[in-house]
Amino acid sequence: MPEEDKPCPIPDLPRGPLCEYRQRAKFSWKALKQVLEDPNVIRIRYDVWQKLEREPLFAPLTSTLPVDQQKERAAKQVKRIAELKLDPQEIYSMDYKYRVRYLMSINEALHAVCPSMSVKIALGVGLFTNALLAMGSERHSAIYNAAWNREIITCLAITEVSHGSNTKRCRTTATYDPKTQEFIINTPDFEAAKCWVGNLGKTGSMALLFAILHTSDGQNHGLQGFLVPIRDPTTLQPYPGVIVGDIGEKIGLNGIDNGFVMFNNYRIPRENMLNRAGDVTPEGTYESTFTEPGKILGAVLESFSAGRLGIMQESSNTLSHAAVIAVRYAALRKQFGPEKDGPEQSIMEYQLHQWRIFPYLAAACVLKASVFSLTDIYLATVQKSQKDSNGFELLSQIVSELHALVSSSKPLVTWTARDAIQESREACGGHGYLRAANLGELRNNHDPSCTYEGDNNVLGQQASNWLLRQWKAAKVESPVGTANFIERREAILGSNFDAIVRASGGVVESAEFITNCYEWLMCWLLRSTAEQLQHADKDGTDRFKARNDSQVYRARDLSRAYSEYYALECFRKRCLREDVAENLKPVLSNVYLIYGMWCIDRHLATFYAGGFAVGPRFADAIRSALLGACGQLKDSAVAVADAIAPPDWVLNSVIAKSDGRLYENIQNVMMTNPGAMERASWWKDIVPSKMKAKL
Ligand SMILES: Cc1cc2nc3c(=O)[nH]c(=O)nc-3n(C[C@H](O)[C@H](O)[C@H](O)COP(=O)(O)OP(=O)(O)OC[C@H]3O[C@@H](n4cnc5c(N)ncnc54)[C@H](O)[C@@H]3O)c2cc1C
Repeated sequence: MPEEDKPCPIPDLPRGPLCEYRQRAKFSWKALKQVLEDPNVIRIRYDVWQKLEREPLFAPLTSTLPVDQQKERAAKQVKRIAELKLDPQEIYSMDYKYRVRYLMSINEALHAVCPSMSVKIALGVGLFTNALLAMGSERHSAIYNAAWNREIITCLAITEVSHGSNTKRCRTTATYDPKTQEFIINTPDFEAAKCWVGNLGKTGSMALLFAILHTSDGQNHGLQGFLVPIRDPTTLQPYPGVIVGDIGEKIGLNGIDNGFVMFNNYRIPRENMLNRAGDVTPEGTYESTFTEPGKILGAVLESFSAGRLGIMQESSNTLSHAAVIAVRYAALRKQFGPEKDGPEQSIMEYQLHQWRIFPYLAAACVLKASVFSLTDIYLATVQKSQKDSNGFELLSQIVSELHALVSSSKPLVTWTARDAIQESREACGGHGYLRAANLGELRNNHDPSCTYEGDNNVLGQQASNWLLRQWKAAKVESPVGTANFIERREAILGSNFDAIVRASGGVVESAEFITNCYEWLMCWLLRSTAEQLQHADKDGTDRFKARNDSQVYRARDLSRAYSEYYALECFRKRCLREDVAENLKPVLSNVYLIYGMWCIDRHLATFYAGGFAVGPRFADAIRSALLGACGQLKDSAVAVADAIAPPDWVLNSVIAKSDGRLYENIQNVMMTNPGAMERASWWKDIVPSKMKAKL
């Protein structure tokens, strides 16, 4: 049965104390869920969760296992997932877009339950095979199939001990030996050891390794990809010439065996070089083999963006989980009240608390929509590139624009999730600090998303570079449409707060007002960054320094503003679709306003610095719109949280169960935690020695 014909699997929620707020919402949370999350994705996720709930290996843990046991558990989970066959065979006869969206949805469901396991699969199966498709050829299909079918555990080895972001400076070498038709892999010293490589520490048997290619004529051909056997897949013993190990305990994600590896004159066959773009002949000559440029471009897009989109999907779920925990707790937790001895009120009633947590609830909704939409364009583009190699120029423009979108959106989503977790932890007070509240696990496991697959600060620069190129070009090349506003730069920069408010009929609480503010902000940041670069050029400052000195308050803010603008636009367009019921529109518009005003509030200094507004009216208008919208959301917040919440066992938070029985649930956890009421086994060691003598 096609996914869309299957009945909606969203289960009802139990009745309980949360119903007091739940009933105040003027819409169905299930209907809202199907706007905020695609119905097919919901079905796939619930299907996976139902299967996992029956599996003892996936039952939530109540305490932190020793590091080695975490690795053992994650590795066994990876194996079990393969046995469960969560990906139905029929998806492999469907088109690329459908198939990959299906697999991405499975990944989202897995990540919400066991992040370490899902990253291990994403690295070893998804990213490895994607990179192989992009860079390899027919001769690597046996390895591709073995990785896809989980017969071998694989990894991607790019980062070295002393180089991460600047991969071009990696120093591992692959030198061709025409006599034996082999590459000799060498690691010059520990600083050039491959490092942080997921799946490499204990389990990986094959690495896709990036090394500098040297041919026997002494020429350096830069970084190339090679398939490098690491361990015997049947014994997991390393091969001679390979020094491989686990890097040790990390802050989180300890189920992943991140490893280091060094090579000492280690030989691999010539065919192990990934030769889609270039190859070394048996005699030792390097030949570039650029055929079908459109397909190569699509494949490169696929290999570099898929991982980042996966991280954004996972992070938007993590952000949702944090917001759900904070909102449900805020509805149930009561402190203080207007009368001295009268009833106390929920902390959600306090404006300060609303202002702290509702923007994250709104961000979760908006970013879910934008990540979904960005993934859609990406999948459609890769699918098109696979079908025909025509239209290379347009495809290359789309690829550049998508790269800019991904490079700015991955930082936005991961940073927002990071901040949401911390704010939610504090918003849940002491109980938020309980392990069983799950905010600590969320924090530790989410944290590296800001670093891997491109450090956020470095990645964001690629988006601002692309925008600056559009700003300077005679013609804006923005087939996705995200930079078309640049064509109206003069009118936009000629505008200001007063003019924009007048144009929107004196109303600031509108999408039109928010969009106009953003377009002004981006144009101003573009102009001032470009001017700063121009002045530096005139002063004779070298371009490297000039570019680096134009990041703070300029290019970095530009990249952030661009991703927020894109997210808000995606959400607005989603809300305008026909399938959105009338009674959902007020809450959706409220969510949009909160996120928009909250983001603009954070850019206020730039608006004033650029002369967009003078005096307090602009700041007052933004802030009172934000506070007004937060007050409006209060009665709907629990229903919005229900709409983005996973099942209780997946959320795994004792303070945010959907039954709302906060204190019963906390009592259960506190009173049943192992040894809670037993005397400590070490009690004798701590009683005063004098007393001990009497015992
Ligand atoms: C859990 C985890 C799993 C990983 N898995 C893998 C894996 O499977 N395979 C793999 O190859 N790698 C992996 N990595 C490594 C990861 O890809 C790198 O850590 C990442 O690319 C960042 O590189 P780096 O650590 O060298 O940071 P650096 O590049 O050294 O950055 C350090 C700081 O310097 C700043 N900085 C750097 N350059 C600039 C600049 N031009 N301007 C301003 N600031 C700058 C950055 O913003 C950052 O804050 C993993 C890392 C983690 C944490």
